[in-house]
Amino acid sequence: MSEQTHPTLQLARELIARASVTPEDAGCQQIIGKRLQALGFQLESMVFEDTTNLWARRDSQPGGLFCFAGHTDVVPAGDLDKWNTPPFEPTDIDGVLFGRGAADMKGSLAAMVVACERFIAKHPEHKGSISFLITSDEEGPFINGTTRVIDTLEARNEKIRWCIVGEPSSTSYCGDIIKNGRRGSLTGDLQVWGIQGHVAYPHLARNPVHQAAPALHELAETVWDEGNDYFPPTSFQISNLHAGTGAGNVIPGTLHVSFNLRYSTENTAEQLKDRILRIFDGYGLDYAIHWTHNGQPFLTTDSGELVQATREAVKSVTGHLPKLSTAGGTSDGRFIAPTGAEVLELGPVNASIHKVNEYVSHNDLIELTDMYEQTLINLLVNDKE
Ligand SMILES: [Zn+2]
Repeated sequence: MSEQTHPTLQLARELIARASVTPEDAGCQQIIGKRLQALGFQLESMVFEDTTNLWARRDSQPGGLFCFAGHTDVVPAGDLDKWNTPPFEPTDIDGVLFGRGAADMKGSLAAMVVACERFIAKHPEHKGSISFLITSDEEGPFINGTTRVIDTLEARNEKIRWCIVGEPSSTSYCGDIIKNGRRGSLTGDLQVWGIQGHVAYPHLARNPVHQAAPALHELAETVWDEGNDYFPPTSFQISNLHAGTGAGNVIPGTLHVSFNLRYSTENTAEQLKDRILRIFDGYGLDYAIHWTHNGQPFLTTDSGELVQATREAVKSVTGHLPKLSTAGGTSDGRFIAPTGAEVLELGPVNASIHKVNEYVSHNDLIELTDMYEQTLINLLVNDKE
């Protein structure tokens, strides 16, 4: 089959042509749902506020529930003048498909659907069940997307055993890296109060910058943990710092500091918060803090069935075993993993994601389809035919 007519590419083009900027789905889930329905999947649309989610499930023989997870929404196109081709008109140039969402992650969604079609055609009586969890809220505030679907599934005790998220995990070629976890993310917004006054009369004022500086220094110097085999050490970074009226002769009355920790499984958010508050208290600061817990860390170890099945599948396509990594930002895997599911991310090369002229190579999507199909075979077919 020539690259141009490969069914994964055709479906990817159909999805890219829908301008589904977060939280819009723009009909993408309908296109995918139709294809899955034809395979015998039961569709359940879960609409929460402005977000459309699709839960689709096909039961076959007894066994575990496999899930393909992903998102139909994309980030905005940005400056249209900087695009060489219109972002929502899929365009093929020299073996590369251009368009917003090509790599993140409409290409992966297309590969998942086509992999399923092929797998079910060859193994209609496979063991276990297959599902799709698709949201239109991954790039946005992630309030009404995957997390709400998972809440719904948990409430009725519907458990995913293995889950592949189609986030673009690869760096130089498709399948070089699989993400088997992500660091946790904890943000603190700190306000420190002093007493505003004239710089010439410091005894009548209290400078919150001076008061907070040693505490901030200690935070920046703290070794939170050493990391472990899967995670780098927890890191702390100040992202915003603001005080002062703009005048050169006024001691500020308040200081605002925002900071973020990307943390390993050696710590919990609660442990980190405790240590940070103890540091503030140790310096006698008059302060208030607001925490935002953006996501817990998760880890799927290489002793699990999913890592083994996926690594073998990737190797059968590329000839090389993929590397496991927990680097990078957060993904919706953080909402699925706490249910006890094994969760991995496997998708195309991520060099162009969120940029202008986003692209994916034809070859990536063709190989990704084979990797997904082979993973299903490894997990859901008894005697590997
Ligand atoms: Zn994504």
